[in-house]
Amino acid sequence: MKQVALITGAGQGIGAAIAKRLADDGFAVAVLGRTLSKVEKVAGEINASHPDQALALKADVAKRDEVFAAVAATVDRFGDLTVMVNNAGVAPTTPIMEVDEETLQWAQAINVNGTVWGIQAAVQAFEQAGHGGKIINATSQAGIEGNPELTVYGSTKFAIRGITQTTAKELAPKGITVNAFAPGIVKTPMMYDIAHEVAQNAGQDDEWGMAQFSDGIALGYLSSPEDVAAGVAFLAGPDSNYMTGQTLVVDGGMVFH
Ligand code: NAP
Repeated sequence: MKQVALITGAGQGIGAAIAKRLADDGFAVAVLGRTLSKVEKVAGEINASHPDQALALKADVAKRDEVFAAVAATVDRFGDLTVMVNNAGVAPTTPIMEVDEETLQWAQAINVNGTVWGIQAAVQAFEQAGHGGKIINATSQAGIEGNPELTVYGSTKFAIRGITQTTAKELAPKGITVNAFAPGIVKTPMMYDIAHEVAQNAGQDDEWGMAQFSDGIALGYLSSPEDVAAGVAFLAGPDSNYMTGQTLVVDGGMVFH
């Protein structure tokens, strides 16, 4: 069967690395993001080495209709969908007393609702095609253990692990597996923003901010987006067929439970 993956939030960082890795592994890939120029650039890079294997799609994952339309466009272009990677996410830094309604709703709409819409749209496509499939959600080390100043982000990432477990049980009879990946500290624009915020709040510079994160990593260094993409490639491929409802932790040794 032809393998077709849609990756959300793939205009940069981990999502872009996943799209490139899955294309290397033989997948046709739909590269979805909210900024068209960014996803077009990633898709262009993939198509340069793998002709006609990538499609750029603009959508906001917080909007259910846009996610369903993106899945439909993927099926139109490649004839199928077999893997859905709900990677898009935002990571506000939120000392508890600064949490407001708007930030909570914004992060929930993208991280949590966006994951739910992605699951629904993928399930519909799998059912229409008459086969099962694989759904892979982005959680985080911050969704396994609480981190200071990440109440909003952490709450969304804990929720994604919950959704991964509930839907894994619910969708198993349809031949659909649902797993998650939990990166630790990955060198992406998101992480540089968080380190900057944490440093500002402590009256320190950005270098200090990044050092706060690498201190807790057993392997002693920050990860690249490609390290995470390797874990996702496993979850997207046949070697993970007997796994569902699980969170694959790719954090260099930060959480051990
Ligand atoms: P990133 O560098 O901020 O990239 C995220 C991508 O998602 C961006 O391209 C962004 O688009 C896109 N996006 C954001 N909101 C969207 C929306 N509403 N609809 C569609 N696309 C949207 O983040 P990253 O570090 O690669 O993180 C990817 C995932 O891994 C996230 O779920 C994150 O929570 C998780 N994670 C990251 C780390 C880390 O250390 N970096 C650690 C643990 C977990 P624009 O570029 O157009 O804004």
